[in-house]
Amino acid sequence: MHERGQEILQELLEGNERFRHGEGRAHVYSPDELRSIASVQRPIAAIVACSDSRIAPEIVFDQPLGAIFASRVPGNVASDSAKWMLEIALGEFQVPLVMVMGHTGCLAIGQLLDGDKGGAGGLHRFSVLSSVYRAKLRRPEDLYVAAVEENVLQTVEHLARDLYPLRKALLSQSTSIVGAVYEMETGNVRPIPTTVELYGVY
Ligand SMILES: [Zn+2]
Repeated sequence: MHERGQEILQELLEGNERFRHGEGRAHVYSPDELRSIASVQRPIAAIVACSDSRIAPEIVFDQPLGAIFASRVPGNVASDSAKWMLEIALGEFQVPLVMVMGHTGCLAIGQLLDGDKGGAGGLHRFSVLSSVYRAKLRRPEDLYVAAVEENVLQTVEHLARDLYPLRKALLSQSTSIVGAVYEMETGNVRPIPTTVELYGVY
């Protein structure tokens, strides 16, 4: 991970520590501050997270408005809108850190672990299903957590494979990408070892 990405990750993890110890900063905004925020934004990170009502990235990292560019979709998959979000975050704001954050107790994964009964989601549903199979191959002690981790790493892989601006930024080391798991029971965000297969810039 490049230096600036590491600094931002550290900043987010420190915010997470404040959050989970009940020491979050009160992010309260005056009308003047709102006007000032409306005129410019300088997000420090772009985060692909799940839609789950319990994991809002700004809250779990104790960040103010304007700090995080985000896309949230069930199972934090590499959706078209997540890719579009990253294209903007990298193109307009050169964010130094991209994070894919899964979480324990994810319903999108839990439902598929219980057996896929079909439904909405199309290819994204198959994508989550494939991470469940990847996790089973590892024969883990806790299949649910392993599937959450595999699903995060799979999204990283898909984003790097499909998104030219991301590959370009990773190759030029203007951004870094990291996977993480939010542990709902404790509020802790745990980064997971993330390697990216770059397919070259073309
Ligand atoms: Zn979820």
